[in-house]
Amino acid sequence: MLLSVRDLTVRFRTHDGTVHAVNGVSFDLEEGETLGLVGESGSGKSVTNLAVMRLLPQPAGHIERGTVLFEELDLTNAPEASMRDLRGREIAMIFQDPMTSLNPVLTIEEQMVETIQAHRRVTAADARVRAIQLLGMVGIAEPASRLRNYPHQFSGGMRQRVMIAIALALEPKLLIADEPTTALDVTIQAQVLELLQRLTAERGTAVILITHDLGVVAGMTGRINVMYAGYIVEAATTPELFAKPRHPYTVGLLHSIPRLDAGSDEALIPIEGVPPDLRLAPVGCPFAPRCAWRTVQCWTENPALNPVEPGGSVRTTGPEATHRIACWNPPTADEATAGAPLRPGFEPAPPPAGSPQATGPYVLPVAPGNAEVRSEEGAESAMPGSHGFPESPGSGSGR
Ligand code: ADP
Ligand code: MG
Repeated sequence: MLLSVRDLTVRFRTHDGTVHAVNGVSFDLEEGETLGLVGESGSGKSVTNLAVMRLLPQPAGHIERGTVLFEELDLTNAPEASMRDLRGREIAMIFQDPMTSLNPVLTIEEQMVETIQAHRRVTAADARVRAIQLLGMVGIAEPASRLRNYPHQFSGGMRQRVMIAIALALEPKLLIADEPTTALDVTIQAQVLELLQRLTAERGTAVILITHDLGVVAGMTGRINVMYAGYIVEAATTPELFAKPRHPYTVGLLHSIPRLDAGSDEALIPIEGVPPDLRLAPVGCPFAPRCAWRTVQCWTENPALNPVEPGGSVRTTGPEATHRIACWNPPTADEATAGAPLRPGFEPAPPPAGSPQATGPYVLPVAPGNAEVRSEEGAESAMPGSHGFPESPGSGSGR
């Protein structure tokens, strides 16, 4: 196993409370596997991976619990020197905006040579030859002369190609790409994704591809974890997830993106409501307030991630990975297709009487002991009839 994450729990201490950013996330990755991590903005995708790399914003962010085994080494308590050595050489990262990772005052040559020499004992001349090869490999014309350019002299798509070249320079075993194409035009996006897929497949590099866009992971990954409010709520192989989504949130995501296989007149249905405020300790299923399938139990008990088909052994990796969901009342196949419950007379359970959720027009679950119920900014957009998904607060850039 290349990467094995167990019960990863990340908190941020902020002046107005503790942010429950990642809540007991577990997943595995074999060498060469490609995994998509999907969910709306704010669902904990970036924080999960920053925790894996031990790059959480300090001092607010910390790993409260859990282990991150990378080739048997627990990264949650590895010495900082090992982490520095590991980053770039064994695990590389690409972010949405290459300008934040590239140094604007250094040429591409200086940055590439420096990266290569930081981890490999080679002369500057050899590192330069390697840099030229790498730029050529990612499709940059006249690489020798482009090496002398500064980042701002490249277009957004070309900068992301440079980042891919730098990320792959040291042949890492794992590449974490966090919204790598979100800032790019759609046509450029496709080219960059194609490049990323081809180069990592050729090298057998394992990939974690983070995106808020299910369309991006469709052709790029073997498996997908769907995240919501800091939890993995559905885990399946990519074909299985698209063919048989079983969590109401995934069903909602699939109905809110254009499908290539659907007619152009297919209506896109945004998921109503907004994600919960992560400053409140989770009670019940975090998706319950937005869920059309919720039952009484969903308001009070948070379901664990369990196999859709009970019994048998659970596989966490590979093309035979077990389809798992965290849901008390999963949609049937017909309901998933329709995007709504079809059982006669079924109504989503109202918040329990006397609970804080019952007092307002639409408030989010509040932890016991957290008496203060704030008026929610999201209350208005949570009302039926308005769009929750594309325009909800905090969705936007996807970072
Ligand atoms: P995603 O990548 O899925 O869009 P993130 O992982 O960036 O989401 O964020 C998860 C949660 O952690 C969000 O509620 C976000 O507000 C919170 N968070 C991220 N960084 C910080 C920080 N530096 N301080 C406080 N909260 C943070
Ligand atoms: Mg993010």
